[in-house]
Amino acid sequence: QWLIDLFSELAERQQASTAATEKLRARDAATHVFWPFHSPQFPLVAREAHGSRILDADGNTYVDCHLGFGAQALHGHSPEPVVRYVTEQLAATTGNGYCHPVEQQLVDLLGEFVPHCEKFAFLNSGTDATAAAIRLARAHTGRRMVAKFEGSLHGVHDLGMHNTAFWYHGHPTHPFPGNAPDGGVERQSALTGVPLADPRDLLVLPNDPVRAVELIERHRGELACVITEAASSSFPFVEHTVPLLRSVSERCRALRIPFVLDEVLTGFRFGPGGAAAHFGIEADLYTYGKVLSGLGIPLSAVGGRAALLDHTQTSGLPLTDIGRKTCVQTTHAGNHLALAASYASLRLLHEQRDTYYTETRAKVDGIQRRLAAFRGKTGIPLRLVGFGDFIGSFGFLEKDSYDDYRAFAGAVNPIAFFLLTLMLRRRGFYTLSLPMLFTGGAHSTEDLDSLVDAVTDSARELGRHGFP
Ligand code: PLP
Repeated sequence: QWLIDLFSELAERQQASTAATEKLRARDAATHVFWPFHSPQFPLVAREAHGSRILDADGNTYVDCHLGFGAQALHGHSPEPVVRYVTEQLAATTGNGYCHPVEQQLVDLLGEFVPHCEKFAFLNSGTDATAAAIRLARAHTGRRMVAKFEGSLHGVHDLGMHNTAFWYHGHPTHPFPGNAPDGGVERQSALTGVPLADPRDLLVLPNDPVRAVELIERHRGELACVITEAASSSFPFVEHTVPLLRSVSERCRALRIPFVLDEVLTGFRFGPGGAAAHFGIEADLYTYGKVLSGLGIPLSAVGGRAALLDHTQTSGLPLTDIGRKTCVQTTHAGNHLALAASYASLRLLHEQRDTYYTETRAKVDGIQRRLAAFRGKTGIPLRLVGFGDFIGSFGFLEKDSYDDYRAFAGAVNPIAFFLLTLMLRRRGFYTLSLPMLFTGGAHSTEDLDSLVDAVTDSARELGRHGFP
């Protein structure tokens, strides 16, 4: 009855949103693919979004802890200086296929944040960026095998998804190839449309430094690159990943295997230089996405050593561009509106850099303190784990830390978490339906205090009804 009441209340509350999305759903079969990943049961149709708030079609206001999959986590929605700058640029020109002064401005500004990158190539999405990094590393080395860590997600190209999160797509029993239970790998591949990787293309590394380095050494002559994240959505425990990555990156340098640090999630977070600067991890290539975009206008980048980025084919004249050159350009890649939005958004961050990171970290520390007190008082194991100052995997977790991503994924109770997201919605918070949430500069201390109130009240309510 409690569940029926919860669902009815949300359905009642979101009638206009539901009606609008039902229309889309109805057309879905015939005309397009309706993409309900945002929040499948109770999709939200946003009328407006400003700062940390979304106003939906029904007139409900939510504190946004989804923030466009984290892409708008820096300043929230529609920060005025960014909107103003982009509007000016929009009035001047739109389109792509030519250079624009804003490109140089952005590159100069990026030099302040990530001086470890000698060059950049701009693309659209994190998926583009990691695919480009892999291609550049392959062109550079003339080899094809890519090593990735179990649990790390590098976007939705085939290699990027292999052995990734159990809960990507919110479905713990629907992992991508490599994660399927014994004997189920072929079927998993058929179900997901992600082909089993050719062992010449993919080497999957465990989250164990000794075994990972052993495997890298064994395949040293075949490896085009090792790609990884410092803090991944499915294994966010930097106390384990950072020492692991330090030893792997050092070994890769000694063996001259390009090391790619995927900073799509971590770039410009933890601190201005992302995880690389914060934890002192050196790579040959770095990929950026998410908050690199301003206003959520898609933009991503591969940055790093010129020696690798110079494999980008730049000339239309084949004779001037021979040798190990490859193409990473796409139609909309690095279009000037996206560059302008990114520039204005990072400029705002640059102006706030002395306070931004200490403030966001203090806010998250406040959440952690209150959750610890809640656990102590109630015994309910509600935890927000990982990602330092900006993002958490929320869950009913018995331990503060897990040293293997499978153990972590197995410990998360996705049903209880899903119900928690619905109860948060009822209390005025919009989140992913995955066990994750994003916080950022747009959230006030009061927003986050009320988030903790909502989460702890919801956890108590869940407990009364037998969850987790
Ligand atoms: N790399 C990492 C670490 C990510 O977290 C993601 C997406 O969440 C991607 C790559 C893919 O980025 P996009 O969704 O922009 O393609």
